[in-house]
Amino acid sequence: MAEFDLIERYFTFEYDFDQHSNDDDPKQASTKKSTSKPRVVKGIGDDCAIFDIPSKYQLVTSTDTLVDGVHFFSDLDPELIAHKALAANVSDLAAMGAKPLAFTLSISLPEINEYWLAGFSKGLKKASKRFKVPLVGGDTTQGPLNINITAYGSVKKGRLLERHNAEVGDDIWVTGYLGEAAAALELQDKALVREEALTAAESELWQALTRPLPPLEFARKLTKISCCGLDISDGLAADLGHILSKSQCGAKLSVESLPISEALIEVVGLEQARQYALNGGDDYQLCFTASNKHRNKILNLAERCSINVTRIGKIHEAGLQLTLNGQPFESNRASWQHFNQ
Ligand code: ADP
Ligand code: MG
Repeated sequence: MAEFDLIERYFTFEYDFDQHSNDDDPKQASTKKSTSKPRVVKGIGDDCAIFDIPSKYQLVTSTDTLVDGVHFFSDLDPELIAHKALAANVSDLAAMGAKPLAFTLSISLPEINEYWLAGFSKGLKKASKRFKVPLVGGDTTQGPLNINITAYGSVKKGRLLERHNAEVGDDIWVTGYLGEAAAALELQDKALVREEALTAAESELWQALTRPLPPLEFARKLTKISCCGLDISDGLAADLGHILSKSQCGAKLSVESLPISEALIEVVGLEQARQYALNGGDDYQLCFTASNKHRNKILNLAERCSINVTRIGKIHEAGLQLTLNGQPFESNRASWQHFNQ
C-alpha cells in the first residue's frame, strides 16, 4: 500500500462535531464560532495544517512519544494503544485548562499490518471524536513501532492552570479516583490473555488503565475559579511535588480523604490502595488548588460536569506532612522524603 493510500484509509477521519457546542455561552458559541473562536482552517492534505487564533486567545501545545516495549507492548489491543496515546496528550491540555483544538500523529511502523492499523485507526477515531479534537496532520514512516502525538489547544489569554500559582491556605483537590491504573498493571498478564476473565472490580481498574478519560470540560471551566493545577500522570506524590516546588510552598495531606474506589479496595485492600493512590502512575486526573471560599462553586461545577472531586489537604508554608486520622503516615516511596523535612 502506498503511503498516501495508508493515510487516506487509516488517518483521514470525517468529523461532524462542533468544537464550540458546549461552550459556556451556547448562544455565542453557535453564532460567533467561525470568527471569534480558535479553529482549524485546514487539516490533512497540504504541507501544513492551518489554525485561526483570534487575538484574545493563546495556543498551547504538548507532545508525547510512545515507544514499543518501553511505554506499551504491541501485543496490547491497538485500539487501546491509540486511545491511551491521545488521552495522555489531551490530559496535558486539560492540565492547563485548555480546550482541545487539534492534534497531529507521527507514526513509524515496522510493516503494513492491516489488522493492527485498522484497530489503531478505530481507537484513534473514537477517542478523537470523544475528546472533540480532530486529527489535522502528521508523518508516516517505516521503522520500529513508535507513536508521537502532538496536541494543540487554546486558552483565553491569562485564563489557565499553572503549577506556580498555589498559595498558602489553599485547599488541595483532586478529580476522579486515584491508584486504579497502577494497580491494573498487575492485571496485565491476565487481561491480555482474556479480558473477560477479569472480575467486575478488576475490569474497572483495567478500564482506568487502558481507557483514561481526562476531565477536560471541568478543567477548562475551573479556570474561572482556580489558576493552579496539573495532571496526575506520575502519581499524586510526584506531581503534587511539582506544584509545591514551583509555588515554593508545602502541604498537609490527609490520607484518609484520598479518593479510592470500592473496586480498588476490593482488588488490593485498603492499605495497598492508599499506597497506589499516593504513588501510582497513569491516573490522568487533575490535582488543583483553590481558595477555601470557592468550595461550593467547585463542588457544583464537578456535579455539572458529572465528575467526582475530593478535597485532600491544604497548602502550607513548607515541608510535606501526611497524616492518617491525625497520626503521621508513612508513604513507601522516597519521593515524599524530599519535601518531608
Ligand atoms: P510532506 O511530504 O509534505 O511532509 P506527507 O506526504 O508526509 O507530506 O503527508 C501528506 C499529508 O498527510 C500531510 O497533510 C500530512 O500532515 C498528512 N499525514 C501524513 N502522515 C499522517 C498521519 N500519520 N496522520 C495524519 N496525517 C498524516
Ligand atoms: Mg512528511
